[in-house]
Amino acid sequence: MRECVFCQIVRRESPAYIVYEDDSTIAFKDINPQAPVHILVIPKRHIRTLLDIQSSDEPLLGHLFSVANTVAREHGIAQRGFRLVMNCGLESGQSVWHIHLHVLGGRKMGWPPG
Ligand code: 5GP
Ligand code: ZN
Repeated sequence: MRECVFCQIVRRESPAYIVYEDDSTIAFKDINPQAPVHILVIPKRHIRTLLDIQSSDEPLLGHLFSVANTVAREHGIAQRGFRLVMNCGLESGQSVWHIHLHVLGGRKMGWPPG
């Protein structure tokens, strides 16, 4: 997966502002933030899209949400509210083909999303 920028971040081959890390997961600031807080939570293992998730990955996916929770608390957006987004596929706007949970907060969000 030499070409995957998020795998490169996991391997420290590409710079990122990392805010959380454990054995299976890493979280870092989005390079092009869409809100005052915009952090990406990713599994360290390369998984291309949400459609590539296996049933054995369910604990890992649950853990991503738990990490998102931690990140939201640590960045002061837990109480006021925040949004989690995972894009899947071309029409969703997915642009990096390594699954990632966007943690967005610090401003009022609109609905429906664009
Ligand atoms: P997607 O559109 O796939 O849901 O989201 C990909 C996100 O990754 C975008 O918000 C984009 O700004 C972010 N991103 C793309 N390349 C990099 C990078 O090299 N470093 C960081 N920190 N974020 C990136
Ligand atoms: Zn990857």
